[in-house]
Amino acid sequence: GISGEYLGRFKANHGGIMAEKTAIVTGASRGIGCAIAKKLASMGALVIVNYNGSKEAAETVAGEICKEGGSAVTYGCDVSDEAAATAMIAAITKDYGGIDILVNNAGITRDNLMLRMTDAEFDAVLATNLKGAFHTMRAAAKTMLKKRYGRIINIASVSGITGNAGQANYAAAKAGMIGMTKSAARELAGRGITVNAVAPGFIETDMTRKLPEEIREGACKQIPLGRFGQPEDVAKAVAFLAAEGSYLTGQVLAVDGGMVM
Ligand code: NDP
Repeated sequence: GISGEYLGRFKANHGGIMAEKTAIVTGASRGIGCAIAKKLASMGALVIVNYNGSKEAAETVAGEICKEGGSAVTYGCDVSDEAAATAMIAAITKDYGGIDILVNNAGITRDNLMLRMTDAEFDAVLATNLKGAFHTMRAAAKTMLKKRYGRIINIASVSGITGNAGQANYAAAKAGMIGMTKSAARELAGRGITVNAVAPGFIETDMTRKLPEEIREGACKQIPLGRFGQPEDVAKAVAFLAAEGSYLTGQVLAVDGGMVM
């Protein structure tokens, strides 16, 4: 259920380009999702900080948002669990009168060379990264259709565009997410709902911190801007699509320091 703090949604001084908008960010307890949640909140949106295991971290994120004068609540749910993900969207719709912005950011890696990759590694990544986004999109689109307004932003990856050795599962999920984004964009465009993907390159988070040093150095050499991105770099692109993207749909925006062009 909904837990955590809920402050100041209708505070008179709480303006911003996204005031009165409700946004859910999946996997917002850490990394890129945390930066997206904070960015959307700073623009005035009420943000639902979804997490799976990291309850305390999610509550810290929501608490920090509220301390800065924003509005946030936490909601724990494994997005790969169909019933739980659907119930989460229904609860938010009921409690806050709908959902304006859905950011599918929850994701995991189980890297392995294809010859060694187990079915369990393949299935886990597909279940969270692709099917999880399907669960929340299907449920959220229903409530967005009623409002004839919505912004859906799926966090894909450049791996889904170029492929990546050791990531057959992850690249398949992210390429699938890009196809799903374009299909949903076509289905929902007539009702004021846009659906776009953001494809980050190498971003400094827990996910990339566990990469061996030689892989990190090799990656840097392929990035024209010469550095890993920060979670905030991705959050800015998401904020743009959410706030200013009224004539943008079905697109994949790479935020990768120029790695894929
Ligand atoms: P992190 O590992 O830092 O954080 C992952 C987040 O996803 C956590 O908040 C985690 O929550 C949440 N999560 C994982 N599984 C689930 C689940 N089943 N249900 C709900 N939430 C879940 O990852 P990043 O911030 O690096 O990545 C965020 C997104 O960006 C992912 O989709 C990733 O694939 C993508 N991306 C990242 C890149 C990078 O270089 N870092 C590059 C390209 C794409 P909890 O801790 O509570 O389990």
